Amino acid sequence: MSEKQISTIEIAEMPEGYTGKGFFATSMEKAVGLARKNSLWPLPFATSCCGIEFMATMASHYDLGRFGSERLSFSPRQSDLLMVMGTVAKKMGPVLREVYIQMAEPKWVIAVGACASSGGVFDTYSVLQGIDRIIPVDVYVPGCPPRPEQIIDGILKIQELVGNESLRRRNSQEYNDLMKKYNME
Ligand code: SF4
Repeated sequence: MSEKQISTIEIAEMPEGYTGKGFFATSMEKAVGLARKNSLWPLPFATSCCGIEFMATMASHYDLGRFGSERLSFSPRQSDLLMVMGTVAKKMGPVLREVYIQMAEPKWVIAVGACASSGGVFDTYSVLQGIDRIIPVDVYVPGCPPRPEQIIDGILKIQELVGNESLRRRNSQEYNDLMKKYNME
């Protein structure tokens, strides 16, 4: 590949800023947002069929690594994106909540599929009717199951949120109020 071809490959979209001869200047917030959004470490909390779609999303055909998220983490303390995929039984609720609490800030959550978003077709006594009853959710991916393209779309939406999030958001009153709503301080 020639030098010219390499220089035209866009590795990550440039944030807003000022360019001149030999320099590019942007705000700290935008630089941090750029780094965070392109290096999300997902924690897959897969309990049933939607987890299989996630496996396809990670495999070579769809390859989530193209979006900087190929490094999965099964340790909550070393991940910043909780992906809940599948039916969550009420008995599993406290476990999910504990996993969320153990994740370090800043952290984001995607509810993948109808079950994680709303309980899906399982309107029964034993199934949690949406994970947002116990933890805050940033993006919902519809479908039963959602196709890998939809899961990728959810990741892109999260990237948009992460890239534009204010560095002060986690200390804001609004965020504290949200945490209080879930009895998390
Ligand atoms: S949304 Fe559908 S595919 Fe996904 S876990 Fe529920 S029943 Fe399975």
